[in-house]
Amino acid sequence: MRVVLATQNAHKLVEMRRILDEAGLEIELVGTDQFPDLADVAETGSTFAANALLKARSVCAETGLPAIADDSGLGVDALNGMPGIFSARWSGSHGNDLANLNLLLGQLSDVPDARRGAAFHCAAAVVLPDGTERVVEGTVDGTLIREPRGSNGFGYDPIFVPVGVSRTTGEMSADEKDAISHRGRAMRALVPVLRDLLT
Ligand code: IMP
Repeated sequence: MRVVLATQNAHKLVEMRRILDEAGLEIELVGTDQFPDLADVAETGSTFAANALLKARSVCAETGLPAIADDSGLGVDALNGMPGIFSARWSGSHGNDLANLNLLLGQLSDVPDARRGAAFHCAAAVVLPDGTERVVEGTVDGTLIREPRGSNGFGYDPIFVPVGVSRTTGEMSADEKDAISHRGRAMRALVPVLRDLLT
């Protein structure tokens, strides 16, 4: 059974393949690099789940294969859950990680340590050619520090310290982060769904 993971990110593909292998699921997961003509999908939804579904529906319709897509971001308590679905474009231009991180740090400069809670959220959607749709979610809670630490990961990783840990996710190896991350949790939550729908 071939399934498309709606990502160009090689790390996400490797991580999801490992999770499927560990679960013993016989699914051949391919990335969207195998389908160079796919349309870009505007993330117009108002939730992570809605955006994940938009991407999975589009890739499923264009490839004719079951499709998995995820959408994720950081919810900051002191900002009432923002940047949330706007995490990748918080500073105005999509994907400028450094500008996004610096803007957030500036906005939080007067927020005391006791109120610097935040959580990474991830929704993962699977859509089948027969129209079946499922969404699962994963979250990791933590706090935001004032000075970036660590050069691993991406996005807001250098300022996010998960609950019960002293390092930022930017100081963790990819394996360590995957074991506790919002995306790792959402991807693992997909396993029983895929087993049920596809095997
Ligand atoms: P996407 O779902 O991969 O498009 O991620 C959306 C945005 O959320 C990214 O551009 C980052 O700003 C932020 N984000 C999502 N997951 C992570 C993570 O694991 N670490 C750091 N930032 C993240």
